[in-house]
Amino acid sequence: MDVLWSPWRYAYITGGPTEKQGCVFCNILNNSASDEDNFILKRAEFNFVILNIYPYSTGHLMVIPYQHAGSLAALPKSTSDEMMDLVKTSEKALVETYSPDGLNLGLNLGKAAGAGVDGHIHMHALPRWVGDANFMTAIGQTRTIPETLPTSFEKLKVHF
Ligand SMILES: [Zn+2]
Repeated sequence: MDVLWSPWRYAYITGGPTEKQGCVFCNILNNSASDEDNFILKRAEFNFVILNIYPYSTGHLMVIPYQHAGSLAALPKSTSDEMMDLVKTSEKALVETYSPDGLNLGLNLGKAAGAGVDGHIHMHALPRWVGDANFMTAIGQTRTIPETLPTSFEKLKVHF
């Protein structure tokens, strides 16, 4: 499935870290770019919150532990507890910002389960609207992203 109009994607592919260079999320934490340039909305004690640069829908963000671990069970309780607290904050932020019809909140562990980045757990949070992807998916295997990442970042940042 293709994503229409994602200008950040080109910059990411040409300028961002690749799998060969290690974990994408660890590299984001270790690069020299500003949090704004990395779309990091919040750095908490054990986790950070970041916009997904390949959003499935507008406002698609992720809550990610600093610890490189591929399993929820492998995380210390302090980390997973804070992760869930940040998911709650994310839920509120997405509802207040976008007034969606629904939300997807979830973890994909392992490539077989759909994880885009294997080995470093990340909780997705994204707003959904009735029929948001169905029409374009039905006619063209394409979904539309009606807002740029910097705009989403500005709108969501105030909630964290
Ligand atoms: Zn990692």
